Amino acid sequence: MTPTSFKDLALCAPIQSALEEQGYHTPSPIQAQSIPILLKKRDLLGCAQTGTGKTAAFSLPILNFLHESPKSRQPRRARVLVLTPTRELATQIAKSFETYGKHIRFSKTLIFGGVGKNPQVKAMQKGVDVLVACPGRLLDHIQEGSVDLSKVEFFILDEVDRMLDMGFLRDVKKIIAELPRKRQSLFFSATLAPAIKELANSILNQPETVTIAPKTTTAEKVQQRVCFVSRDDKRELLMDHLAEQAQGELTIVFSRTKHGADKLCRWINQKGFTAEAIHGNRSQPQRERTLDKFKGGALPILVATDVAARGVDVRDVTLVINFDLPNESEAYVHRIGRTGRADASGHAVSYCSPEEHEFFIDIEKLIKQRIPLEEGHYGFHQQLADLHARGLKSPESTRDNGGKKNAGQRGQGGKRRPQNQPADASSANRTPRSRRRRRRR
Ligand code: AMP
Repeated sequence: MTPTSFKDLALCAPIQSALEEQGYHTPSPIQAQSIPILLKKRDLLGCAQTGTGKTAAFSLPILNFLHESPKSRQPRRARVLVLTPTRELATQIAKSFETYGKHIRFSKTLIFGGVGKNPQVKAMQKGVDVLVACPGRLLDHIQEGSVDLSKVEFFILDEVDRMLDMGFLRDVKKIIAELPRKRQSLFFSATLAPAIKELANSILNQPETVTIAPKTTTAEKVQQRVCFVSRDDKRELLMDHLAEQAQGELTIVFSRTKHGADKLCRWINQKGFTAEAIHGNRSQPQRERTLDKFKGGALPILVATDVAARGVDVRDVTLVINFDLPNESEAYVHRIGRTGRADASGHAVSYCSPEEHEFFIDIEKLIKQRIPLEEGHYGFHQQLADLHARGLKSPESTRDNGGKKNAGQRGQGGKRRPQNQPADASSANRTPRSRRRRRRR
């Protein structure tokens, strides 16, 4: 029988109290299915997307285990290793351990790049119960002898699909080689492509499988829309979308590149909105400050690149704007997973220029859905909308030029009129702002 209350799960009293304080009563499906398996000490292969509650699905049984079988620390060693692709996600996971384990005695530390190594060496000197780490820096510590994984009892590989996308496969394999054979392993991924399954088979021992979201579905609670818009019109469209957000609603705007994120952020601020960017070129403290402001509601707009936004867990994000489409369609699923977290609903709107059309086709293929046109901004839509509806590809679209203008369109002066579009279609036909129907509500 699937547990319908946390009380039905054999979790110790200190965890039950922390959950109550958090206001969690009903386990999410991944929690209801995974926690009993993990409490039985079985390996687990979890196919679940971000926002499903998977962090608690693994951290609760681990905390239960640490509470019931405490051990003294051993220098440079950890009992639990959580390996995750980005610093933001690592920080988020460590915070979840803190929240759910607030009435339990345990130690934890974080290891990731972009910050000084020495404090991490120091933190590991006495050893810890829980180590949350990103692959690259962890490997450095292993090679330098400041971390020893030979006594890990619990190993969690989180967001494996992303880990592989980011090119961490070799590092991950090297880290796995450091682990003892006897351990409990958990493996979470949003998708189970063949390479991911292969890795899972090499790590897990007769695992039970829990699938929460089918292989390629997008977060169901997110209402997705597309605007077929010329690259030159994207900023104006963005202004409309930002202006339509109500006070207190949070927006994440995705840019494909770090440089693009900075430029866009400056422009948004020039237009009188308040935005900050997070991406790989910003230091860890800078990113954390920005994220804290965003979470606290002091910053309404976050401009982010894919990697930096990973692990951003903010409940009030009501709108995700894909200003640039990602060139890896799986990143789309992660991006829109930033809204509609837990029981909230959210919207995601993608701006697709003719040059990016092929990326968009790939996204629809991956999610096995047609993304509807956004109502209320018809003036921006290009004839590409018709082409797309008829299953045709934009002549301007190639996988290689998704981010760049092609030479023929450069240097023509003034605003470029998209191909296949009458002279008046891109701007003169726009519905006046005042008459435009509000997208929601
Ligand atoms: P995750 O998928 O682990 O990133 O979790 C997504 C969000 O759901 C986070 O904000 C969690 O705090 C929240 N959450 C996780 N489990 C529950 C639950 N059982 N009840 C309510 N909220 C939850």
